[in-house]
Amino acid sequence: MTTGSRTETLPLHRGAGRDVRLLSTSCTACGYVDFPPQSYGCRRCGTHGDELSHAEIAASGTVLMSSEVHSHPDRSLAVPFTVAIVALSAGPVVRVTMRDTTPVRRGDRVAGVIVPAEAAATAEAETDAAAGTPAAAQLRFARIED
Ligand SMILES: [Zn+2]
Repeated sequence: MTTGSRTETLPLHRGAGRDVRLLSTSCTACGYVDFPPQSYGCRRCGTHGDELSHAEIAASGTVLMSSEVHSHPDRSLAVPFTVAIVALSAGPVVRVTMRDTTPVRRGDRVAGVIVPAEAAATAEAETDAAAGTPAAAQLRFARIED
C-alpha cells in the first residue's frame, strides 16, 4: 500500500517474485472462496459475519480465454498487452494482465509474478515517478509449465 495523493486500496496480494498469494475470503459454512475478499456474505450460501474468514490462496490457475489489447483509453499504458480470464485453482475466476505479450491459450497454466513497476509500464507507475516516490510493484501473470 502506498500513501500520498493516490487513492488508498486494500492490498490484494502478498509475496514477492513468483511466491504470490492472493488475499481472499472463505466461507466456513460451505467452503466457497471469494476473490477479491469481501464481507457482505457468501455468494453461494448467504452466510455472513464470523462465518467468513480471511484466507490466502495460490495465485495460479488455468486460462479460460485471453485477448491482446492494442488500444486503451489511457494513453499512458504501453500497448500491446495481453489480458486473460483465469480460473484460479482455489475456485475464483479473475481477469489478469499477463507479464508478456506472448499469447496464452485456453488451458494454459499461469501463475502470478510480482514485477517492478517500470516493467509493468502503468500510469500508476508514472504518477509515482513524477512524485519522486518509489513506484509500487505490480502483479502480473505468466505462463508456467506443470
Ligand atoms: Zn457459503
